[in-house]
Amino acid sequence: MTDADGDVDIPESHPRYESLLTRHRIEAGVEAGITSRQGLVAQGRGEAFDYLLGERTLPSADAAERAAAAHLLLADHPVLSVNGNVAALVPGEVVDLAEATGSDIEVNLFNRTDERMERIADHLREHGAGEVKGLTADGTIPGLDHERAKVDADGIGDADVVLVPLEDGDRAEALGELGKVEIVIDLNPMSRSARAADVPIVDNVVRAVPAITDHARDLADADRGRLESVLAAFDADEALSVAERAIREGGDDENGT
Ligand code: ATP
Repeated sequence: MTDADGDVDIPESHPRYESLLTRHRIEAGVEAGITSRQGLVAQGRGEAFDYLLGERTLPSADAAERAAAAHLLLADHPVLSVNGNVAALVPGEVVDLAEATGSDIEVNLFNRTDERMERIADHLREHGAGEVKGLTADGTIPGLDHERAKVDADGIGDADVVLVPLEDGDRAEALGELGKVEIVIDLNPMSRSARAADVPIVDNVVRAVPAITDHARDLADADRGRLESVLAAFDADEALSVAERAIREGGDDENGT
């Protein structure tokens, strides 16, 4: 049985408790009209990669999460993009991250319908969000077809740093070409989205979003120099290689050696 948030009666001692809970949250999201049915497919793909990675955060992913926090804190106008899977899995956590980094929240859907946009915006507000962007859709990302190009001109259109969890490859590439700093959360280190990102975070969104918030709180009083040194210490290509190796070697590659 699931409640409105997708919480289920799975014993916490179950070895794959977190994974099953995540799956049920997506199911509940579909039932509530927040998540698309294609979102179930994306979730299945994510689960497979998470399983191969050992369902834990690699040290290289933690470094990416810290770099993401530094980028969001350094930004003039950071925006967190939310799709149907993210809204189902981490609505309150996205609101916490927006508060910790002074970011706007914008709903951005691959299969955009006004009804689903409204439902997601309402769901985020129920979890504490103030303004939710994405409904005006008076801006476009060049290079994409009409529906998928829509953004708010004063949201993602104006952002200098964008967090796009679980973004599809086309849009991630198009956003990257706009010269914005792009932070992607994607469990597949070989996906086009991860490869297009300035900061690819190869981790489950349910672990990654709270981890970025923790780093942002830890860095809240850091000066520009310290934030820039966090960015300088992070190497995107290296992080992707380490994750790929961890998958090949059975999730035991803690140090990337
Ligand atoms: P590409 O970027 O190669 O074009 P795609 O557009 O085909 O990929 P989708 O089908 O939209 O990608 O799949 C979504 C991506 O999100 C997959 O790479 C999947 O691994 C990842 N993903 C799904 N669920 C999660 C999750 N909970 N946390 C992190 N990543 C996830």
